[in-house]
Amino acid sequence: MLFKAMSFQPLSAIGPSMVTWALKLHLPIGPIIRKTIFSQFCGGESIDQALISAGHLARQNVRSILDFAVEGAQSEESFARTVAELENVIKISSSHAHVSFAVFKPTGITRFALLEKVSRGEALAKDEASEWELASQRFQNLCTLARKHNIRIMIDAEETWIQPAIDQMCETAMKIHNGNQAYVFTTVQLYRKDGLARLEQQYNAAKAGGYHFGVKLVRGAYLIKERERAKARGLDSPLHSTKKATDHEFDQALRFCVNHLDHMSICAGTHNDSSTLHLAKLMADRGVAKNDSRIEFAQLLGMSDNLTFNLAHHGYNVSKYVPYGPVEAVLPYLFRRAEENTAIRGQVSRELSLIESEIQRRRSN
Ligand SMILES: Cc1cc2nc3c(=O)[nH]c(=O)nc-3n(C[C@H](O)[C@H](O)[C@H](O)COP(=O)(O)OP(=O)(O)OC[C@H]3O[C@@H](n4cnc5c(N)ncnc54)[C@H](O)[C@@H]3O)c2cc1C
Repeated sequence: MLFKAMSFQPLSAIGPSMVTWALKLHLPIGPIIRKTIFSQFCGGESIDQALISAGHLARQNVRSILDFAVEGAQSEESFARTVAELENVIKISSSHAHVSFAVFKPTGITRFALLEKVSRGEALAKDEASEWELASQRFQNLCTLARKHNIRIMIDAEETWIQPAIDQMCETAMKIHNGNQAYVFTTVQLYRKDGLARLEQQYNAAKAGGYHFGVKLVRGAYLIKERERAKARGLDSPLHSTKKATDHEFDQALRFCVNHLDHMSICAGTHNDSSTLHLAKLMADRGVAKNDSRIEFAQLLGMSDNLTFNLAHHGYNVSKYVPYGPVEAVLPYLFRRAEENTAIRGQVSRELSLIESEIQRRRSN
């Protein structure tokens, strides 16, 4: 029912603003969200609850990436709170063998507008310069703490116009922490026209710098926002114009990575069946063991369980992002999941069609 509701386009289109308004008016919709979309896509409201979800996954040999999914914070106090929570996650994760990575979003620890200004290469005012200094320190401290606790850490990729600042901080952290092994993982989005070139260039920089390159490969989550911004500014879209081109680029990136495993480790963050199969085949062709520690598959909690559990069953390293946080604070994350599961061009979403065919299969047994 949940996936059917999300795939109904008019509801998905107005749902986020309805929910936002209802919460502003203090209407009692929290329990409804908690029992539906939240329980499908989130591991809980606190780290303890997320660890219980991680424990369930561990029984099926699936590891977890505890993701404090609070977004949209703007004040220094909320950034400091997020950093404290992330530090806690790193420390706790290190004592749970079934937690594979720590993760964070740069906009969770610093202002979007500041990342944008740094990305444009503009001169910063004095107070902005000290704010940037603090943000960079927070970023580096999280990576240092993860290394100290022997837990790998991934940094999510965000909008193209703030990514140069994020890349700069990731590169610094990788130089410091990734010797013969990757502790810090950056993210490359292959829906970008320059995705593959960026991947190769970052790999080459790591190789030349004598450190291991850690990268999460994803297609990219901000398709609509990126296109709207480019259109509004009369710019060429930075993204591929077709899904087919993105798919091709993603699979090329997987090939590049498997061919260069000597100096890199990867996490393939995808729900796409054919890319997953493609990676498994590349590994088999190159004689890479299914459980090679340099390759991790990952899906989001509540999505593509068919891939996650089958990969685990066949001995691959596979993790779920387990987002958690107070219901109201994780709404932007939940809205993105709803948007992803909307019917596109009259086709039901992938999750819905998988669920429907499984129900059909069970009925006919
Ligand atoms: C573990 C994990 C971590 C993630 N971390 C990040 C992150 O750090 N940053 C981030 O941005 N995203 C992240 N994502 C989300 C990811 O980028 C995708 O949005 C999502 O996984 C859907 O893509 P897919 O590979 O699963 O495959 P599919 O569902 O087959 O592909 C959907 C994707 O294809 C692309 N696409 C769709 N239509 C078009 C079109 N017309 N033209 C061009 N491209 C198109 C878009 O990127 C879209 O999201 C993560 C996903 C996972 C599973």
